Amino acid sequence: MVSETLKNLISEVINLRENYLYEEEFIAKELNSNYAVQPKDHLYLSLINRTISREARYEVLKRQRWRCNFCHKTLKMSKYSDWAGETAHIDHIHPYSKRDSYVNGVQNINELSNLQALCPECNLKKGKKEVN
Ligand SMILES: [Zn+2]
Repeated sequence: MVSETLKNLISEVINLRENYLYEEEFIAKELNSNYAVQPKDHLYLSLINRTISREARYEVLKRQRWRCNFCHKTLKMSKYSDWAGETAHIDHIHPYSKRDSYVNGVQNINELSNLQALCPECNLKKGKKEVN
C-alpha cells in the first residue's frame, strides 16, 4: 500500500520530468529508487504503460526522416549516439496526461499515429502550452 503523499510525490515527479527524460530512463530511475512501489499498484502500472518501445521510437524517427516535427532540426535516437543532432524526445500528440479522453481509447495512447519526435526545445515549448 502506497501512501497518498507518496502517490502525489510520484505524480509530481512524473509531470515535472515528462518533457525532459526518455520514459525508459525515468522508469529505470523510479524502479531503482527507494520508493516502495508495489507491482500491482495503479501508479506502477501507469509508469509501465508510459513506455514507448525502442521499435516505436525508431519507426517514428524514420517516418519523420530523423527530424523534429516542428522545427525540422536533425534528431538522433539517444544521447549515447555518436551522430550529430539533438536527442529525440518522443511526444504524445494527444498528451499522455489526458489519455482518458484519447479518441481511439486509452489503451491505444501509445500507438504510432499518436507519437511524434521533437527536439528538446520544441518539446519543452509544447509541454508549457499544455500546462497553461
Ligand atoms: Zn524542434
